[in-house]
Amino acid sequence: MHELSIAIQIAEIITEEAAKAEALTVTKVILEIGSLSGIEADAIELAVPEAFRNTICENAAVEYHYIKARAVCESCCNEFDPIDHYKICPFCNSLYTSFLKGKELNIKSFDIVKP
Ligand SMILES: [Zn+2]
Repeated sequence: MHELSIAIQIAEIITEEAAKAEALTVTKVILEIGSLSGIEADAIELAVPEAFRNTICENAAVEYHYIKARAVCESCCNEFDPIDHYKICPFCNSLYTSFLKGKELNIKSFDIVKP
C-alpha cells in the first residue's frame, strides 16, 4: 500500500528529529495533506497509526489537515478551485494556469516531551 510506505517515512523523519531534540516521547503530530497529493484520507489514517506503532510516535495524537486544491489563471489572474488535475480556467478557458496549493504532503509540526 502506497500510503503505508509514506506513513513509515513520516514516522522515520519524526523519529530522527525527535532523537536530535532528545525527546522522551512525541505527543502530537499535525500532517498537511493536499487533495492533489495522491493520498487517500481513509488509507493514510489507517496507515499512520500502523507505522507509528513501536516508535517514539506511538502515543501521539495525530491531526490530519486536508488542503483543498486551488489554482490561478496566468491569463486573467482569477483564482479558482480546480477539479482534480483538470485546471482549465473557468473564467477565460486559458490553459495557462498553475496550482497554488493542493499537492502538499507535509509534517506541519509535532510536539515532544523532553526529560
Ligand atoms: Zn483565466
